[in-house]
Amino acid sequence: MKTVTVPFFISHQGCPHTCAFCDQRTISGARGEIPTATQIREKINLWQSTAGDRQLEVAFFGGTFTALPEEIQSRLLAPLQHFIQDGSLGSVRISTRPDYIDDERVMWLAERGVRTIELGVQSFDDAVLTASGRGHSAADSLGAIRSIKKCGLDVGVQLMPGLPGDSPALSLCSLEQAIFSGADFLRIYPTVVLRGTELARQFVAGEFTPLSFDRGITLCKLLLQRAMQAGIPVIRIGLQADAGLDSESILAGCWHPALGQLVRSLLYADLVDRFTSPGQQVILYCHPARVSDTLGMKRKNLHHQAERGVQMQVAEDASLALDELKVQSEGTKAIYSIIKDLHYSIYEV
Ligand code: SF4
Repeated sequence: MKTVTVPFFISHQGCPHTCAFCDQRTISGARGEIPTATQIREKINLWQSTAGDRQLEVAFFGGTFTALPEEIQSRLLAPLQHFIQDGSLGSVRISTRPDYIDDERVMWLAERGVRTIELGVQSFDDAVLTASGRGHSAADSLGAIRSIKKCGLDVGVQLMPGLPGDSPALSLCSLEQAIFSGADFLRIYPTVVLRGTELARQFVAGEFTPLSFDRGITLCKLLLQRAMQAGIPVIRIGLQADAGLDSESILAGCWHPALGQLVRSLLYADLVDRFTSPGQQVILYCHPARVSDTLGMKRKNLHHQAERGVQMQVAEDASLALDELKVQSEGTKAIYSIIKDLHYSIYEV
C-alpha cells in the first residue's frame, strides 16, 4: 500500500551547533518552530481527508530530533499515539545526528511508534567530517546504525558527496560503508554552497571548491548504480526544490530541481550508447515507471541518439525490471541492465 508522508519541519531544532554547509531555513523553506499538539492533530486530520485508502506516515525533518529535551520529544510524539492506535498512522520517521543515537534512545522512540530513523551521516571519512564542522565521527555513525538495526527499526543514511576534504573515491567509500553497515535506504545530496553558511565564506575566500555540476551528476550516477547493484533504494538525489532554494541562495555546487531524474536518465543514456550503433533504428522497451528516464528530460536522450545517428522509439513493457531496457532492432531483441551491463570507473568523475 502506498504511503502519504505528513511532513513537519523542525529546522535546526535540537542541533548542538550549525554545520559548515547547513542552512536549514533555506533547505526546507520553513521556519523551525516546534508544532503544538493541536497543530499536529489538525495537520494529520487534514492530510487524512485527502489520503483515500493510503496509509499515513508522519515525518519530522530538518533538525536533530533526539537532541531535543525529552519533554519536547514526548510532546511531539504524544499526539500521534491516538492515530497509531486507530490504525490510520502506519509509521513515524525522524531525522537526527549519529552522535545523538544509542540503544536507549532507539528503544524509547520505538515504544512511541517511531519506525524509521534517518541519520545525517554525510561521510564515513573522519577528516571530511571534521572539515565540515560536523562534530561527530564515522564510528558514531556506525554505532548509531547498529543501535537502530538492533532494535528492528529502518535506518536511512544521508550522504553528501563533495564536502571539504572529500573526493569521488572517498564518496564511493562512504557509500560502500553505508551499504556494508546495513542502511535500508539512502539519500544522496551533492554538496551545494548556500549563502550565509561557513562553506560560503570558504568558497568566497577561495578555500573550498565544490563539485561542478557535470562532475556532481557523474559522481551521483556512479553512486546510484552502486546502490542499485547492492539493492539499496536511493529515495532522493539532490536537495528538494523548496521555496528557499534558488540561484540567489545557492552560490555554487551541483544542484538542479530534478537532479534525481537527470542522474537516472544518464544511466539509461549510457546503456543505449553501449548497445546501439549509428545507423540503427531501435525500439527501446522499458518499465512503465521508467519512460521519462529513458527519454531523458525534455527528450534529451532521444535528441542525443539522433545526433549519434540512432533513431530511437520508446515503448512500455511491464515485464521488464526497473533497471532493464529491451533493445529491438532489425529483427533482433536483447535485454540489457543498468546494474549488470554498465561498468564505470571512479576516475571518470
Ligand atoms: S545537524 Fe543537520 S540540521 Fe543541524 S546544523 Fe548540522 S546539518 Fe543542519
